[in-house]
Amino acid sequence: MKIQSILLPGLDEQRPLIISGPCSAETEEQVMETAKELAANGVKIFRAGVWKPRTKPGGFEGVGIPALKWLQHVKKETGMYVAIEVATEKHVYEALKHGIDMLWIGARTTANPFAVQEIADTLQGVDMPILIKNPVNADLELWVGAFERLYNAGITRLGAIHRGFSSSDKNIYRNMPQWHIPIELKRRYPDLPIICDPSHIGGSRKLIKTISQQAMDLNFKGLIIETHRNPDEAWSDKDQQVTPAELKKIIESLVIRETTQSTEDLSDLRKQIDEIDNSLLELLSKRMRVSREIGTYKIEHNMPILQTVRYDEILTTRIQQAEKMDMSGGFAKKFLEAVHEESVRQQMVIMNVENGNQNVVKEE
Ligand code: PEP
Ligand code: MN
Repeated sequence: MKIQSILLPGLDEQRPLIISGPCSAETEEQVMETAKELAANGVKIFRAGVWKPRTKPGGFEGVGIPALKWLQHVKKETGMYVAIEVATEKHVYEALKHGIDMLWIGARTTANPFAVQEIADTLQGVDMPILIKNPVNADLELWVGAFERLYNAGITRLGAIHRGFSSSDKNIYRNMPQWHIPIELKRRYPDLPIICDPSHIGGSRKLIKTISQQAMDLNFKGLIIETHRNPDEAWSDKDQQVTPAELKKIIESLVIRETTQSTEDLSDLRKQIDEIDNSLLELLSKRMRVSREIGTYKIEHNMPILQTVRYDEILTTRIQQAEKMDMSGGFAKKFLEAVHEESVRQQMVIMNVENGNQNVVKEE
């Protein structure tokens, strides 16, 4: 994919690119007041939900078309660009008809390839920046698939919004950040700008600053943050909205680290990392060789490959050891499980050959 800039005329490359405004457009006064204050604080792109995807019927589902007229007023009176969420063909038509500048596809919509394709087909031949939120579930391929659908429809001004992933585990986040997923997206598509949505990740206004700083430290392009003139009275997502004044404070507090050139010291440290990685791989390969020898021994003594008591013992002792060595137990567990999986696979290959079965045991 050859991705083009999402920046509109007058917007600069400086990080963070800020998109802000209420979760939902509620009334003309609420929209205008919030927008004017944001514009006065230097925000250039205004967001507002016009159609709201709700978990259950009966909640506030957005004002719909009348709110698009309020956004036209925002443009006219403040000079800000306006961005909304679209989920259907009709939303796209209405947004284009009302001169909306930027669209985003919501997390629930990204999870549905039919809906994404419908939006892509409707946008065919339209030149505007489109942002795609990650799907609610932690599925990178589904996210990538949505980019491909839009790109195949000729949309090249694309950006990603990282809004976190739902999880059944109770934790401090409304949606788990799972930073490795947007990082892998960026590794695959280095030109794709990533905008973090700390409001939907955190689900709570007190987490917004920390998550925003983390996104900046990971070199994300921008932030989309929900603001409301009176957050406690918001008709949707009230716990995670901040006032425009609070947003200003958050943005001013961010430390933006821009230097990409590596200094002498850094290249020295990187050399050390390269050497350590080399040694790690050599050690791992040695471990696999021993593991294969164990496989041969097990065949000769008619023993099954999997010895759960031994595996359990390895996991428990090694995790404790790793924790004493300043590593997280969770990381040690994942690492050891991956090493064990590969050992078992290599032993299965040996056993398969012994059984006269030529099928190679493939990597998962
Ligand atoms: C929103 O941005 O208000 C929204 C509905 O977000 P998401 O699609 O991330 O849930
Ligand atoms: Mn919201």
